[in-house]
Amino acid sequence: MYEKTTLIADHRHLNAVPSIPSVIETPTGFVADALARPLQDLRISLTDRCNFRCVYCMPEEVFGKDHVFMPRSSLLSFEEITRIARIFVNHGVKKIRLTGGEPLLRKHIENLIGMLAQLKTCDGRDLDLTLTTNGSLLAKKAQSLKDAGLTRVTVSLDSLDDTTFKRMNGVDFPVSEVLRGLDAAHAVGLGPIKVNMVVKGGMNDQEIIPMARHFKGSPFVLRFIEFMDVGVSNNWKMDEVIPSAEVVRRISAHMPLEEIEPNSTGETAERWRYRDGGGEIGVISSVTKTFCHECVRARLSTEGVLYTCLFAANGHDLRALMHGGKSDEEISTALAHLWRKRTDRYSELRSALTNDISRPARKIEMSYIGG
Ligand code: SAM
Ligand code: SF4
Ligand code: SF4
Repeated sequence: MYEKTTLIADHRHLNAVPSIPSVIETPTGFVADALARPLQDLRISLTDRCNFRCVYCMPEEVFGKDHVFMPRSSLLSFEEITRIARIFVNHGVKKIRLTGGEPLLRKHIENLIGMLAQLKTCDGRDLDLTLTTNGSLLAKKAQSLKDAGLTRVTVSLDSLDDTTFKRMNGVDFPVSEVLRGLDAAHAVGLGPIKVNMVVKGGMNDQEIIPMARHFKGSPFVLRFIEFMDVGVSNNWKMDEVIPSAEVVRRISAHMPLEEIEPNSTGETAERWRYRDGGGEIGVISSVTKTFCHECVRARLSTEGVLYTCLFAANGHDLRALMHGGKSDEEISTALAHLWRKRTDRYSELRSALTNDISRPARKIEMSYIGG
């Protein structure tokens, strides 16, 4: 049973407007937080709306017909997003991921991608500009996204079995359309393409082996994500989390695996490859093996609020600074100060917090802040 939760569409009143330090700094391409983690990765949520109602993210019981989404007037404009993104890039961000809600629902997203693709990292390289999607509109949009300058995509798919998939996406969406989207993305060169499967015990864990078999030896890298306690609406229970170690054990029993080195520091997935040369899989152990110590990621909400952790209860209203007429230099200095003070490590503290009545009652929804 779901508790009836009232979600607040406009979160801005709960967020602080950052103060502008008196001494304005020039960004150096590097800023580290209080735990020595550099700012390298930015996720931008383009909408809080979605055409799916995944049980672990926007369950229909909570995000039903009466749910009030953010008014369109609250969304950052493409110019505002690009302006903020440039400020982040000047502090060392190399990778930008567009997310949501469902980012492909944002009208004219190609125009935004075109604007972001012009940005260069501090060492003059192209950004790694990527997008996470449920794949429902990908077959239609793959070519225009590629043409606009998108580097690659990650596609979420929780099952190959239509009954299970439809139960999980909550809107009767068929598997075949997502597979068509994946093929289209591959055909236009939006790769390497990752496929994300959230594993929810008792719901789709029987799909671990079929999914592994299907994507083994394909151009797509399948990654298994532990069901996380994001937001308050998904009725999260620890006993529905299938630990990554168990996922690896189950697959390895049929198709032996060996662990390989991560591609880069800050990479959230552990990599495993098939011993017979059939490619690799990833596991993201957000619950059982936390990676806060190397978390280099900031999140910007649809309405321009910066969150320094997926589990942060409060954010920092960057849009208010823009609307208050602050200059890029002032916003950039404020951002550097915020990041330097960052101490977030929610997942590392989770087990202690779970037994602690002071655990924050209010947590931000994944569909609002972006996964
Ligand atoms: N709508 C897009 C999609 O589904 O790919 C982008 C936004 S979605 C919030 C981003 C990612 O978060 C998806 O891969 C989704 O499966 C994952 N996600 C959402 N809720 C989750 C949860 N409770 N635990 C683990 N992953 C979750
Ligand atoms: Fe929508 Fe993605 Fe959340 Fe599913 S996971 S409800 S597709 S935002
Ligand atoms: Fe980063 Fe927060 Fe997740 Fe830890 S809990 S990895 S700090 S987003």
